[in-house]
Amino acid sequence: MVENPVAGVVRVAVDAPQHSGLNGPLDYASEQALASGSLVRVPLGKRELLGVVWPGDAVSEPEVALRPVAAVFSVLPPLGADWCRLLDFAAGYYQRSVGELASAVLPPQLRELSPDQLAARLRKLEKKPAKAAATKPVKPELAPEQAQAVARIEAQLGEAAPKPVLLFGVTGSGKTEVYLRAAEAALAAGRQVLVLVPEINLTPQLEARFTERFAALLPEPLAIVSLHSALTPAQRLQNWLAAHLGRARLVLGTRLAVFASMPELGLIVVDEEHDPSYKQQDGARYSARDLAVWRAHDLKVPVVLGSATPSLESWQHAESGRYERLTLAARIGGGALPRVKLFDMKALPPSAGVTTALTAPLLAELKARLARGEQSLVFLNRRGYAPVLHCGECQWKSDCPHCSAWRVFHKRDRTLRCHHCGFTERVPQACPNCGNHDIAPIGRGTERLEEQLAEALPGARVLRIDADSTRRKGELEAQLKAVHDGEVDILVGTQMITKGHDFRRIRFVAAVNPDGALFSSDFRAPERLFALLMQAGGRAGRDAAGESPSEMWVQTWHREHALYQALARHDYVRFARDQLAERQSAGLPPFAHLALLRAEARTVEAAKAFLAAAADLMQDDGVLVYPPVPHAVARVADVERMQMLMEASQRGRLQACLRAWVPELIALKREHKAVLRWAVDVDPLAI
Ligand code: ADP
Ligand code: ZN
Ligand code: ZN
Repeated sequence: MVENPVAGVVRVAVDAPQHSGLNGPLDYASEQALASGSLVRVPLGKRELLGVVWPGDAVSEPEVALRPVAAVFSVLPPLGADWCRLLDFAAGYYQRSVGELASAVLPPQLRELSPDQLAARLRKLEKKPAKAAATKPVKPELAPEQAQAVARIEAQLGEAAPKPVLLFGVTGSGKTEVYLRAAEAALAAGRQVLVLVPEINLTPQLEARFTERFAALLPEPLAIVSLHSALTPAQRLQNWLAAHLGRARLVLGTRLAVFASMPELGLIVVDEEHDPSYKQQDGARYSARDLAVWRAHDLKVPVVLGSATPSLESWQHAESGRYERLTLAARIGGGALPRVKLFDMKALPPSAGVTTALTAPLLAELKARLARGEQSLVFLNRRGYAPVLHCGECQWKSDCPHCSAWRVFHKRDRTLRCHHCGFTERVPQACPNCGNHDIAPIGRGTERLEEQLAEALPGARVLRIDADSTRRKGELEAQLKAVHDGEVDILVGTQMITKGHDFRRIRFVAAVNPDGALFSSDFRAPERLFALLMQAGGRAGRDAAGESPSEMWVQTWHREHALYQALARHDYVRFARDQLAERQSAGLPPFAHLALLRAEARTVEAAKAFLAAAADLMQDDGVLVYPPVPHAVARVADVERMQMLMEASQRGRLQACLRAWVPELIALKREHKAVLRWAVDVDPLAI
């Protein structure tokens, strides 16, 4: 551990908000020499905050009167130099202060506890009872492609500078088994393993699988822990401490776990690496996937990025040879990928009400599956009953008074709810504008689809799973169990049910209204749609032992679209090639690097003025600055949101430019009092 050179003065990373103008670590006086990485409490203004003694030289002269460190958490070993490097890199790259980032990613309870209280927590950790002895797990024999992939990753564990691995495996090809074997090898070598998953919902399932496999190998309490935001603060601190102390050998978590302190980290796995939820959407807008790659590179340990539909960024790295691609082309057990039927909505007779999502042929197919006792999944990426209520007399629509968005009609609790600001009201008895009693829903969400399915297929057991049906703790687990246990005939849901779940009985998947994303202004929309549909389709036919072929049914008005054509052939490679060619000719990522400056204000003019002034301060021909435009949902909770895109062909150029620019923006903000918030988003996902 490096001692701070000047005994008496220490640098401390503390959450002094960047916008206050204070940036790097601050100097404090300390009676004892403190190792970098030590957790401390320090005064800042009138408050006392958690801080981390930071590596590097203090800038203050010894004679300057500094405020003293208030307390030292000496019961805890200091955070490692590698952890500090990760934070330094992430803070620099995403343009935040290191103290702010540290405070955001350390367990929240650390901020509240005194050193004595923390010592008590540590004693409690020591006293965790051992678990009951576990039986030896049964490991399946690896399929040849799995064996090859595992062998490569095992070999990497001994390499001096392993390349990131892109594990490109179709749905059901047994990627998780590869993670398990790779983890086993790293654990056997005495290293800690970090496994990231995109959704909290997927952590219990994954935890169960890892625990089943490793309980015998890792019998100590807290040897396998999870880290995600749904844990109680006490659990999160406990699990974080276990990782930091090296007791947890295996850490499973969502994006925030990429910052776990793991002194013996030897392998990182990022499952479903393409998933947008790896990107944090506020504060430090980091990409956990990208940081995982950085961290592995820094530590010279292997990182495995797994997906059936890799992000185009990762795919391009594999193409260029920066990543090592390992492919699992076959499903385990020889199950075929579902046949994709592109159902042409234009072919329906116009009289038959073609706007309806439940077309007669689809219903017939569902009925046939039902008669054979098979499970089906109907996917619609819109929750609620209907996206908008409408008055036929005066054309009133249920808009949100605070946002530029409609309020969604939720029938079960008879509310109109804004999905952006949360504003909720009881559904009016009559049109609030003209008093007409006949106000009707337009369009369809999962709630309405569920109702229509139940009506059209009497006797069928229909279950809906989405953010609304799973609000209470334990609901999702119970609902998934019902699906697995065969108590459900037709599962209706949003993208929540398309991800990761190893449903064994589903043989038919229908996407009833996916076209919207084809014409989005966001250049990443096709990539997301393709991944979503491939994942949804991937829920079907995971068990080869069904008698009828499994099928995915896509209802579209645009059958000929290249995206659907590639989907019909399960041809990710072709899709990626087409998309990358388009991106290259349009100068878009991964061939260019982007950052967004976002500004929020009470008026459009104020937000625009700030962005325009900011653009004037940007002095670099290597960075192209686009004019400010409104956010896709321009107004939320009475705040106007504008954004300005910056593009550069070189990442380093953009980074250098942002580094010089952000301090100027802090000063600029003081002149623009009407601006409520601003933020830089590096490598933004949604444009
Ligand atoms: P993916 O993550 O690629 O979609 P999974 O890892 O969920 O696929 O594997 C699909 C199913 O195949 C799981 O039920 C898993 O237990 C099983 N499986 C994986 N590898 C093997 C193997 N080598 N032999 C038998 N079953 C396997
Ligand atoms: Zn009306
Ligand atoms: Zn609203």
